[in-house]
Amino acid sequence: MPLRPIVTVDEQDLERALLRKSVDALTDGRHDCADCGRTPLVGEMVYRYAAGSTVCELCRPLRRGEPVESELVRHGEWGNSVRVRRV
Ligand SMILES: [Zn+2]
Repeated sequence: MPLRPIVTVDEQDLERALLRKSVDALTDGRHDCADCGRTPLVGEMVYRYAAGSTVCELCRPLRRGEPVESELVRHGEWGNSVRVRRV
C-alpha cells in the first residue's frame, strides 16, 4: 500500500481561504449593478430591466429603455428586526 503524502496547510493560506469564503458568503445576497459592478447603498433605488439585469441609480440614465420595475435597497436585516407595537 503506497503512502499518502502528508498534506500541510500554511496558516496564512488557511486565513486567506477563510476570509475569501466569508466574503463570498456576504456577497451572495447582494445585487451588484450590471453596468458598473458597484453594490448599491441602503436607501438607494435599483432598477430591473427585461433582460434580467439590475442597474444602480447612477447607471440608469445611461440606459435607453425603461426599467420593468424598481426597488428600494433595504438593510440586510429588513423584516427580521423586533418592532415595538403600541396597543
Ligand atoms: Zn451602476
